[in-house]
Amino acid sequence: MKLGAIEAGGTKFVLAIGDDQGELFEKEVIPTEHPDVTMPKVISFFEGKGIERLGVGSFGPIDINKESNSYGSLQKTPKTEWIDYPLGKELKNELGVPVIIDTDVNVAAMSEAKWGNAADVDSCLYITVGTGIGAGAYIGGQTLKGLSHPEMGHILVRRHKNDEYEGGCPYHGDCLEGMAAGPHIEKRWGKPAIELTEDEKVWEMEAYYLAQALVNYIYIVSPERIVMGGGVMKQEQLFPLIRKYVLEMLNGYVSSPFLTEETIDSYIVPPGLTDEAGVKGALYLAME
Ligand code: ADP
Ligand code: ZN
Repeated sequence: MKLGAIEAGGTKFVLAIGDDQGELFEKEVIPTEHPDVTMPKVISFFEGKGIERLGVGSFGPIDINKESNSYGSLQKTPKTEWIDYPLGKELKNELGVPVIIDTDVNVAAMSEAKWGNAADVDSCLYITVGTGIGAGAYIGGQTLKGLSHPEMGHILVRRHKNDEYEGGCPYHGDCLEGMAAGPHIEKRWGKPAIELTEDEKVWEMEAYYLAQALVNYIYIVSPERIVMGGGVMKQEQLFPLIRKYVLEMLNGYVSSPFLTEETIDSYIVPPGLTDEAGVKGALYLAME
């Protein structure tokens, strides 16, 4: 069966055709511009290719409740041209195939659990630390959703004792995303994160915020693996700092063989799948 897959990101759309064995035949990457510019390119990529279903892992916030009238519509996204854009409906109407939509991070969690660095366990949480911060989870054979999708990037965090940055989330000021996403590292320190590699205090503070989030996710979601991706996590020195803080903050409260000095390195890990995680996950969504 021929299936379509889209990883709809804030900066780029990855489009692919594959099959129900997870094999990709064709792929194209286009920039995320105004929907009037991006969507015709998306439609023309898939048109006439004979796909039977289409899976989409999208940036958000987006309605992923299948019962809802606005299933597949974007919501109050910072990409303002896309606010209320009915992505799912447009794709379905234009291509005439069923469209299954979930969040980019839920799809990444599922992908890591199927084929990546969480393939040996049953549950996985995926967090991306990039332009924004978001997390998704795959547990009990499903991605995590309910009322809406989780918004784990916007949890409140305790301020670092040396941090005077006021926080930059337009909705919450000093939530996790407002304190620790890439653009806020840049605003706090006056340089892009990538140019701050050598500055230890930058990463110690970043790890302090991210570790608090992971500790909360461990308490609430109880995943058997945490995969951390996104541009900021390319700073590999963050991993040991985050692991150290997580153990310190948990302070032995959660008893699990995954959460010891010896095992934490294989509990909090980078992604196993690189560029294709998003589209492969979207392809898997299309199979369901
Ligand atoms: P997006 O979140 O838009 O999909 P990314 O995950 O690449 O894209 O995140 C972009 C953010 O990550 C920017 O704020 C950028 O400064 C930061 N970033 C990208 N690469 C690196 C790097 N190697 N080291 C540190 N920060 C990075
Ligand atoms: Zn926020």
